[in-house]
Amino acid sequence: MINEISPNIINVQFSGNKSISENDYILYYNEEGLLWKVIENEFSIPQKTDFEAFPGNAEAVFLFTFNNIPCFLLRDKPKTKGENFVFKDITFFRAMPDKELAWLSLLGYQFKYWYQSNRYCGKCAAATLHKTDERAIVCPSCNTVKYPLIAPAIIVAVICNHKILLIRGMESRVGWHTLIAGYVDFGETLEQAVKREVAEEVGLEVKNIRYYKSQPWPLSGSMMIGFVAEADENEPIKIDEKEVSEAVWFHRGELPPFSPSLSIAGEMIEKFERGEL
Ligand SMILES: [Zn+2]
Repeated sequence: MINEISPNIINVQFSGNKSISENDYILYYNEEGLLWKVIENEFSIPQKTDFEAFPGNAEAVFLFTFNNIPCFLLRDKPKTKGENFVFKDITFFRAMPDKELAWLSLLGYQFKYWYQSNRYCGKCAAATLHKTDERAIVCPSCNTVKYPLIAPAIIVAVICNHKILLIRGMESRVGWHTLIAGYVDFGETLEQAVKREVAEEVGLEVKNIRYYKSQPWPLSGSMMIGFVAEADENEPIKIDEKEVSEAVWFHRGELPPFSPSLSIAGEMIEKFERGEL
């Protein structure tokens, strides 16, 4: 999975009043994506030294360290030195040969989205401030504090004997088959969410739900929580036509193209294929 790099490489422990040094990494995202430095087709994250002096009012936010080097998010575009810089859409991570940088670009995007979405207080609409002692945003007017918000979502491999139920979503652009997934609703346990999502999307009842593992997924700001569950392949499938275009039981060894193992879905399907799930 794309997030499975050595835990020491990216350290998200918050460190408030860090000032930027010349070698620190600078993440700048705009509508086109993330700004990369490219030299002879080698992509890297620009460092402060790659820019002219930052504008006086530039807002630089400490995000995390990458191999012990601080990474800062910049809100306003700084002027680069030279021409070796290019914006790449956030989905570029799929093509990045360097898994660590791919994960860094995704994780930075999640921070950027969260900071951007909380520039104003949701309660009283005043401009917010960044807390300096922890990763949080505070409203100077009504004192509301906002912590990073992560949306839990379940993802479930529904199996029966040597078969796995794979679906294709209505909005799937690539046409891969994948697993049933959905956000956990207010008041639900994870197990209840698994049962509800399977019932809603394919009309089946599941049992013997067991936890697999989890994967943070920055693109949707969610935490994918993986489960395996059993259903009866002889029961009729009734798909939710708003969300699912196809749901089919596939026998091990006869699987169609499925999501790559960057994601927990791909990893679970691969493990099923190898008889390990
Ligand atoms: Zn407020």
